[in-house]
Amino acid sequence: MAIRDGYKCYVCGRIVEQGECDHIVPVSKGGKTEMGNLGWICPPCHADKSEREAAEAQGRNVRIKARIGVDGWPM
Ligand SMILES: [Zn+2]
Repeated sequence: MAIRDGYKCYVCGRIVEQGECDHIVPVSKGGKTEMGNLGWICPPCHADKSEREAAEAQGRNVRIKARIGVDGWPM
């Protein structure tokens, strides 16, 4: 999927060759390990997403950090 996406992080849109594969719908929410549910993600986005998913799984309130997209606008 890295090549399909042109090494573009599906969260922030940055091109990252040192990215990772991520389940777009987490396995904990019934996401499957298949091409349609895998996306290329950069390490910071992956860490954020994992943190958020872990917090959601525990039922905690999640403070979502503001994130600025490649176009300079908040996402
Ligand atoms: Zn990213």
